[in-house]
Amino acid sequence: MKMEGKVAIVTGASRGIGREIALHLARLGAKVAVNYAGSEAKANEVVAQIVEHGGEAFAVQADVANSEAVDRMVKEVLERWGRVDILVNNAGITRDNLLMRMKEEEWDAVINTNLKGVFLCTKAVTRQMMKQRYGRIVNVASIVGVSGNPGQANYVAAKAGVIGLTKTAAKELASRNITVNAVAPGFITTDMTDQLSEDVRQAMLQQIPLARFGNPEDIAHVVAFLVSDGASYMTGQTIHVDGGMVM
Ligand code: NAD
Repeated sequence: MKMEGKVAIVTGASRGIGREIALHLARLGAKVAVNYAGSEAKANEVVAQIVEHGGEAFAVQADVANSEAVDRMVKEVLERWGRVDILVNNAGITRDNLLMRMKEEEWDAVINTNLKGVFLCTKAVTRQMMKQRYGRIVNVASIVGVSGNPGQANYVAAKAGVIGLTKTAAKELASRNITVNAVAPGFITTDMTDQLSEDVRQAMLQQIPLARFGNPEDIAHVVAFLVSDGASYMTGQTIHVDGGMVM
C-alpha cells in the first residue's frame, strides 16, 4: 500500500477520523493537504506530526459547504503539487433533534456540510483527475445512512445522499479511471461521539457483535485500502466499518 508521489486532500482533517486518515496516508508516503474549517492550530499540529516523521503536508482552510472556498483549496493544492490523486470527503457535523422539533437551520447546516460539501469537493477535483486519468475518491458516510436513526433525520438524509452520490459519481467517472467508494463507520470514539450520554453509549455497545467501539484507526486503514492499487477494481461500493452493527 505504498503511496509515494500521490497527492491527497482530506477534508475535516484537524481532528478525529479525518486526522487519523491524514496521518495514515502520509505514513504510506502520500503528500497530504490537511483541510480544516475552524481550528488552524489543530490543523497545524497534524501537519507538524506528518513533517516530523519525514512526510509532506500543509494546512488549507476551506468550509466544504462554500464552493468558492473549495475551489480555492483545490487551486492551492494544484499550485503546490501539480496534481490531486486522492480526495477523502470526511468533514461532517451533527445537529440532532427529533423530526418534529428539528429547526430548518439544523436541517440546512447538516445537509450543507455533509452532503453538499461532498458534491462541491468532488466536483472541484474532477476536472484535474479526468485530465490525469487517475483518481481515488472516498466518502465518509455512516451506517445510519443505511439503517436510519431516530433524532438524526438531517444527518441520515445527508449520509444516505452521500451513498447515492458515491454510486452516481462512480458510474460517471469510471471511464477516466477514477474510483469513488464510501466507508460507513459505526460508532467511532471521537469528539463527535464523546457528546453522547453513558446510557446511549451502553445501548450502542449492546448492538455491536465485535463488542467494542471503533477507533479512528479502524476507519483510516479501510480508507487507505480503498485508495490503494489493491482496490483498483472496486467502485461505487459502501464498506461498513462498524464491528458488525448493521448487516
Ligand atoms: P469530528 O467532529 O471529530 O470531526 C469532524 C471534522 O470535520 C472536524 O475537524 C470539523 O472541524 C470538520 N468540519 C466540520 N464542518 C466542516 C466544514 N464545513 N468544512 C470543513 N471541515 C468541517 O467527527 P468525526 O467523528 O471525526 O467524524 C468524521 C466523519 O465521520 C464525519 O463525516 C462523520 O459524520 C463521520 N462519522 C463519524 C462517526 C463516529 O462515530 N464518530 C460515525 C459515522 C460517521
